[in-house]
Amino acid sequence: MKYHTVIEKLPQELVREDQLELLLRERAIRLAADLLRQGELVAFPTETVYGLGADATRSEAVAQIFLAKGRPQDNPLIVHIAREEQLKQIIAGPLPPLAEELIKTFWPGPLTIIVNKNEAIPPVITAGLDSVAVRMPAHPVARALITAAGIPLAAPSANLSGTPSPTLATHVWTDLQGRIPLIIDGGPARIGIESTVIDLRAQTPLILRPGGLSRERLEAVLGIELEVAAEITAEEEKPLSPGMKYRHYSPATPLLLNNFDRAEQLAEISEQYRDKRIALVVTAETARGLEHLANNFKVVVMGSRSSPAGIAANLFAILRELDHLKLDKIIVEMIPETGIGMAVMNRLHRASKVE
Ligand code: AMP
Ligand code: MG
Repeated sequence: MKYHTVIEKLPQELVREDQLELLLRERAIRLAADLLRQGELVAFPTETVYGLGADATRSEAVAQIFLAKGRPQDNPLIVHIAREEQLKQIIAGPLPPLAEELIKTFWPGPLTIIVNKNEAIPPVITAGLDSVAVRMPAHPVARALITAAGIPLAAPSANLSGTPSPTLATHVWTDLQGRIPLIIDGGPARIGIESTVIDLRAQTPLILRPGGLSRERLEAVLGIELEVAAEITAEEEKPLSPGMKYRHYSPATPLLLNNFDRAEQLAEISEQYRDKRIALVVTAETARGLEHLANNFKVVVMGSRSSPAGIAANLFAILRELDHLKLDKIIVEMIPETGIGMAVMNRLHRASKVE
């Protein structure tokens, strides 16, 4: 994988070509760590999506995240760490026993746990809640950056609030250019969808947000069946996971869902949208039946039905690409809610909501 800074601030110097990549990566991380320690924001790659980091111990630094993203103040942030010892800086009291089990199995990785927070975590991160979300990302650049900065990083996804999450450095650039001093380019995000958020404070753990780690894998380790928090409406004042009430992940083009499981549906779509420019985002299996559609329909394959992980990795990039075409509608095929398919459908349902 190639690593290079998008915004180049490094001095010119002669380096052997085979050393260039490593040197640039080290320099980029050092530069980013310096900026973070000065209270600035840095966008960095993680295995889920790109994150927009700030020093989690400083309110003024964290407040910049909300400004840069246009994120509502009542939507709390996830604190990112690189080593388990850093948990002491964040949580109050001992870890719940279930948390230990999950950490041992799934960290570093796409799992965020909700635990009680201690005094060091400023209220701006948690939107005033007494709990805090924590994750240890697996991406080597994210971990090197947190280690080099020597501080936990508060980081939401590095996009403008409401838009599809960034899975490439160019997505971050499109949304946040001119608002942040540095983006570290680590290539495409491997998972392509945000972390799974699980609340471990109550007797029975609750999945607050489906994500890159499937419910099935969590259940296998915990040996219990897990509930997933119900969809939250904007009217609710104190939702369990405040972020779930906002319009999210949405392309500017209106998005509709369809299961493409009957021949008549296709006939209906081609009739109803005869005079419109439409994208059909479908599995490879469905695409085979769409060869004879008129050319106002653009067919985009999001992956194979047999690999929801492949679909998750492609989804946000496809939505962003299609937005550039200024079509009348994007119609996306629904996939089964098993494995990571649950997170994919969660994002698609949210993206299809008009508010
Ligand atoms: P994002 O930064 O876009 O990945 O969103 C973070 C998600 O974690 C949002 O859905 C938040 O509502 C959720 N979250 C963060 N902190 C907490 C917390 N203390 N309690 C419940 N949910 C949280
Ligand atoms: Mg986000």
